[in-house]
Amino acid sequence: MKKTFLLVLFCVFAFAQLTSAGLSKHIVDYRIKAKLIPEEKAVIGEETLTWLNDSDKFISELQFHLYLNAFKNERSTFMIESRGAHRGFKSDEKNWGYTKIKKIQIKDGPDLTSAIEYIQPDDNNKNDQTVMRVTLPNAVPPHKKITLYIEFYSKLPKVFARSGFHDNFFMVAQWFPKIGVLWKGEWNCHQYHLNSEFFADFGVYEVEITAPEEYVVGASGRRIAEVKNDDGTKTYTHYQEDIHDFAWTACPDFKEFKVDYSLENPPVNTEIILLIHRTHLNQKDRYLSSLKNGIEFYSQNYGAYPYPTITLVDPPIKGLGAGGMEYPTLFTSMTFSWMPRGIYLPEMVTIHEFGHNYWYGILGSNEFEEAWLDEGINSYSEVKAMQKYYGEDRSMVNIGGLKISDFVSQRLNVIGSGKMDPIVKKAWKYYSKGSYAVNAYAKAALMLLTLEKYLGEGIMSEIMKTYFERWKFKHPTTQDFVSVAEEVSAQDLSWFFNQFLYSPDKLDYAIGSLRKKEVKEPKGIFDEKKEAVREKEKKNKEKIYRNEVAVVRKGELIFPQEILIVFENGEKIREEWDGKDRWKRFVYFRPYRLESAQVDPENKVLLDVNFTNNSLVRKSKKTFPFKCALSLMTSFQNFLSFVSF
Ligand SMILES: [Zn+2]
Repeated sequence: MKKTFLLVLFCVFAFAQLTSAGLSKHIVDYRIKAKLIPEEKAVIGEETLTWLNDSDKFISELQFHLYLNAFKNERSTFMIESRGAHRGFKSDEKNWGYTKIKKIQIKDGPDLTSAIEYIQPDDNNKNDQTVMRVTLPNAVPPHKKITLYIEFYSKLPKVFARSGFHDNFFMVAQWFPKIGVLWKGEWNCHQYHLNSEFFADFGVYEVEITAPEEYVVGASGRRIAEVKNDDGTKTYTHYQEDIHDFAWTACPDFKEFKVDYSLENPPVNTEIILLIHRTHLNQKDRYLSSLKNGIEFYSQNYGAYPYPTITLVDPPIKGLGAGGMEYPTLFTSMTFSWMPRGIYLPEMVTIHEFGHNYWYGILGSNEFEEAWLDEGINSYSEVKAMQKYYGEDRSMVNIGGLKISDFVSQRLNVIGSGKMDPIVKKAWKYYSKGSYAVNAYAKAALMLLTLEKYLGEGIMSEIMKTYFERWKFKHPTTQDFVSVAEEVSAQDLSWFFNQFLYSPDKLDYAIGSLRKKEVKEPKGIFDEKKEAVREKEKKNKEKIYRNEVAVVRKGELIFPQEILIVFENGEKIREEWDGKDRWKRFVYFRPYRLESAQVDPENKVLLDVNFTNNSLVRKSKKTFPFKCALSLMTSFQNFLSFVSF
C-alpha cells in the first residue's frame, strides 16, 4: 500500500516536473512581494530572483533594468529624448519617479549593495540610471543558477508615459529590478528610451500584491490567492509561467467584470477580466466585444492564445498617459465616455494591445533593436483584424457617411513621411518619434500587406502561422522572419526584404506619358509579311496610330509592375515589367488610339506612395465627355483608396 502510494506520488511529482518545464525555457524565476502605499505613491518591494546562466560562459556580473529611474530627473536619457512629454502628456516636476535598491544580496550569501553601479551601454549619459550592474564575488558557472534577494522602493511618477499614478489610479509597470537578457553570451540590457522598453527572458512570476482593501487590483497572470489582512489591506497572489514581464494596476474606481471565453478551433479557454473606470462603464460592451474579436482573430490566424487570463485595464481620462500599453496577459486600452459608435478607437487600441501578447509577449523579440518585429507585425495584424470585424473600407471611422479604414490611416502616415530612416534600426536612433512610428509601425505593416498581395493570402497566412509556431517563446530576429518567409514561399525574397527593411527610400511608379500619332505610309524596306499587313491596312483604308506608353520609376525602390493599357475600342493589354530601369516604353501600332494606361491596376503594391500618378487618360477634344468621365473615374478610384463615403 505504501509502495503504491509512493509510486503515485512519484508519478504526480514527475508529471509536475514535466509540466513545469512550461512552454518556454525558464531563465528567470521571480517571487515578489509588493505593497502599494497610496499616500506615498510608492511600492515597497521584496524580490527573490533565481536566474539561470543559459550560456557556456562564466558570468561575473549581472545587469538589471531599473526603468522607473527614467523619471528621476530631467537628465535621464528618456527625459532628454522625450523632452519631458509623451503622446501629448507632460511630465510633472513635482512628482518624479525612481527605484531605490535598499539591499541586494546573494541569497544566504554576501551583500552586494555596495557593488551597485549604473551603466549606460547605449549613450554614455552618466545621468541615466536605468541600467544597474552588480559585479559578483564569484562568477556563475555555465548552465548554473544564482538566487538573489532584493529589497526596493519604487516611487511612481505622475503618469504621463506608460507607468505611474493619477490620484487614486495606479498603473504599476517597469517597477521592479528586472534582469537583462544574456544574449549570445553578452548582456543585452538597454537603457529606458522614448521609443522602446522591452526585451526580457521568459520564466515564472509569482507576485503578492498588497493594497488597501477598497482598491480593485488587476495584474499579469492568474490570481491564485486573495487574503484579507488585519490592517485594512488585502493581498492578492498572481502566478504565471512563460511570461517575461509583470505589470499591475490598482484603483478603487475600477469596476471589475469577468467573462469566460472559449474557442473550439483552435482550443482556447481563458478568462477575460475587464477593469473599467467608473466614468466609462458605458464602454464596457465595446471593450468586451473587441477583445473577444482580438482573441479569436489572433488565435485563428497565428496560434491559440495560451494563457488562462487576459486583463484589459481602462484608465481614467487623467491617467490616459498609461493607455495603449502592452504587458504579458494584461494591457491598457483607452476610450472616452462620449466616444461615438462609429469611431473605432477603443476597438482598435484593444485589438492592437491584445495583439502585442503575441509578437511582444509570446515571441519576445528585442524591441530595442528590431521594433518592427513587434509593432510592425502587430500593426499588420491589427489592420487585418479591424477589416474583418469592422469593414474593409470603414474599420476606423464610419460616421455621418464618412468612412476611413485602418489601412488608409496607416498608408497616410507612410505617404506623409520623409525619408529619414529605414524600418530596421535601433529604436532610440530614429530621427524622431514620428519617424520611429512611421517606420516601425505603418511602413512595416504596409510592407507585409504588399508581400501578402505579391505572394497571395494563402502563402502569407502559412508564413505567419509558421513564424509564430516555430519561434514562440524564443526571441526571433528579423533574419528568422525572413528565413521563414523564404522557406514557406519557396522563393528568394532577399530583393524584397533588403530594400524595404533596410532602405529609407520610397517606392513610386507612374505612367510618365501617353502618346498616339497617326502614321503615314511607312518608308523603308519591309519583309514580305509586314508589307502584306500594310497592304491589308491600306485596303481597309484605316488610319494607323503609333501608340506609346511610358512607365517611369520615380522612387528609388524597385518592385515588379503590371501595366494595363486600354484602347479606345475597348481592347485591353496587360504588360509586365520587372521595374528595374528608370523607365520602360511600350509601343503599339493599331488602327485605333490609346485611351488610358495604369500601372499596378489592382493596387497591389501598397507601398507605392503615390497612387494618383498611377494612371493617365489620353487628351482628346473629340471625346471630351468620355475623357472627363474616365478622368473622374480614375480620380475617384484614387480618392477611394484614401477615404470612401
Ligand atoms: Zn503597439
